[in-house]
Amino acid sequence: MNYKSTRNNEKTVNSSYAVLHGLAGDGGLYIPENLPSVDLNYDILKDMSYQETAFYVLKEFFPDLGDEELKKSINNAYNTDTFNTPEIAPVAKLDQNISLTELFHGRTLAFKDLALSLFPYLLTASKKAENEKNDILILTATSGDTGKAALEGFRDVPGIKIIVFYPKNGVSPMQEDQMRKQLGGNVDIVAIEGNFDDAQSAVKDIFSSQEFKNLCQENNTTFSSANSINIGRLFPQIVYYVTTYVNLRNKGIITENEKFNVVVPTGNFGNILAAFIAKKMGIPIDKLISASNENNVLADFFKTGTYNKERPFYTTNSPSMDILLSSNFERYLYYVTGENSSRISELMENLMKNNTLSVTEDELTEIQKEFYGDFATENETVDSIKKVYSKFSYLMDPHTAVGYAVLEKYLKESGDKTHSVIISTAHPYKFPYAAASALNLSEKENPYEMLDDLSAVCGINLPKQLEELKTLPLRFSVIINKNKISDYVRNKITEKK
Ligand SMILES: *Cc1c(COP(=O)(O)O)cnc(C)c1O
Repeated sequence: MNYKSTRNNEKTVNSSYAVLHGLAGDGGLYIPENLPSVDLNYDILKDMSYQETAFYVLKEFFPDLGDEELKKSINNAYNTDTFNTPEIAPVAKLDQNISLTELFHGRTLAFKDLALSLFPYLLTASKKAENEKNDILILTATSGDTGKAALEGFRDVPGIKIIVFYPKNGVSPMQEDQMRKQLGGNVDIVAIEGNFDDAQSAVKDIFSSQEFKNLCQENNTTFSSANSINIGRLFPQIVYYVTTYVNLRNKGIITENEKFNVVVPTGNFGNILAAFIAKKMGIPIDKLISASNENNVLADFFKTGTYNKERPFYTTNSPSMDILLSSNFERYLYYVTGENSSRISELMENLMKNNTLSVTEDELTEIQKEFYGDFATENETVDSIKKVYSKFSYLMDPHTAVGYAVLEKYLKESGDKTHSVIISTAHPYKFPYAAASALNLSEKENPYEMLDDLSAVCGINLPKQLEELKTLPLRFSVIINKNKISDYVRNKITEKK
């Protein structure tokens, strides 16, 4: 199976080329020529481990790596050294109508681990398959969680260097500490004065710049990306929608002919896009519910059919979703407009020029049959944490709580009785102040003291990753203006000679 660009249907590349290069040469995103057909019948899947399911699904998406290499990669990525439960992505049931798929059991306590534990293996194998001799330089923009998960995944991988850019005032104290105390000889972390969109745009511009293409060639360097624009990030995320379905059936939460809704706290649209593709491949997902915070550009799109990013940018208590330009949205548009690449080029050009794009009335009607989008304010987020904690003794992180708040709005509007699964994207202790505020604890300036107070009240132990983090020394403290990102990268490429 080969990949083509969302902006050009003609030229195709193989999966290892797409993993290695990240973004298509025309600025579009790689998409499979045809979605592979995989038999996702429950009877086939029901006894498979997470690793077996991952291999069964992913071998279709990455056929060029070789089955043995892929199997080995999957087993190295998902095990009890990298995840604190052999289930990898367990399902927790709140009540008859609502469950959660917990994606925070990996090394960095956020759902990014599900893809970024595997991605470095896919990249290394792709480098080999493509006979790429250059050093790889990974540039990554992060809204908080991708950065750390990528740094952990690529730490000391030979032949690969990684630079992470994060918004200085746009991540939680634990997220920032996780990055600034990162170990490894091949990592670099830079705070920028600007927001996530600034960092993501700067990185995308560098990838498609002719000047940088030349510079890389002169310096035996190849760029790649660890953001969810990379197919090596995106498709591993399908696996936990497959295992969620199997878990729901295995636990008797849904029966043979029942569907389930998924509620996805959404920023860059990667996670929910994986759900959409899992549905296209046959997983019985009914509604896809996209939950935003006050940066509600997607919520508006699902209500009106217009995506308008010209609006204020808010820094919220769910910082990993503080995004106005969701890169994977382009892949979604590609499917809902009938895989029409020239139309996508036009729409994206319009979005870049005029900050807005619209689909037709008919397209919106189709979109609304399967998607629902809304948003939650910061107060609604804290209220949801409080409510779910007092009702079920279950502590949600603020991103998951945005999902819960939006699900309540959806259920109230629709009266839908279908079982809903909220995708729980982070451990609550990555965001101590939202949890503390929900539990009415007085604020402590030191986030680790705040965590101790939380732990004393709700009885959840500090995960060992955060315990260790407390005493590690700070290693990185560079802050640059958002306009200096390309200068910074230029210097990094030339200085290593
Ligand atoms: C990245 C992230 C999200 C948003 O996921 P997208 O795939 O970017 O939509 C939500 N919650 C948390 C905790 C995250 O780290």
